[in-house]
Amino acid sequence: MLLGFKRDYRLGQGYDVHAIAEGLPMWLGGVKVESPKGFVAHSDGDVAIHALCDALLGALALGDIGHLFPDTDPQYKGIDSKILLDKVMRLVWRDGWRVCNADITIALQAPKIAPLVPQMRETLAKIMEVGPERVSVKATTTERLGFVGRGEGCEVWAVVMLQKRS
Ligand code: MG
Repeated sequence: MLLGFKRDYRLGQGYDVHAIAEGLPMWLGGVKVESPKGFVAHSDGDVAIHALCDALLGALALGDIGHLFPDTDPQYKGIDSKILLDKVMRLVWRDGWRVCNADITIALQAPKIAPLVPQMRETLAKIMEVGPERVSVKATTTERLGFVGRGEGCEVWAVVMLQKRS
């Protein structure tokens, strides 16, 4: 046990999907992916950050990002999802929690994003104010099966563990 933290933990999981279309930017894990296609969304469409935010909110039973940042609200049009993650982290910190670790799995057929994983881990860890060793990002395809395999969308699962400060 780390000094200054209680043995009070919360586990959260998040899930998100965005459709893929031509000519849109592709942001994943806070990093710009070079691709002729991108994600259809009200925000910048960073489906990995959205799943992570939902995991953080889920751990504290604070609802979900659709509830917190409604896509009917023009202030969130095209917003950088890193700002949304920062807003969610403020709720986590406000209530005296910190991130123990996060584990994110991104299912995307193309392009290959494995080379960007270290940068995603650094980017997300910095916003959550933890070391990158506490943030895992895994990239997989679905072997051309399903909507992900046909290149129609991207699917992301995230799990986080939070620990209460004493
Ligand atoms: Mg989303």
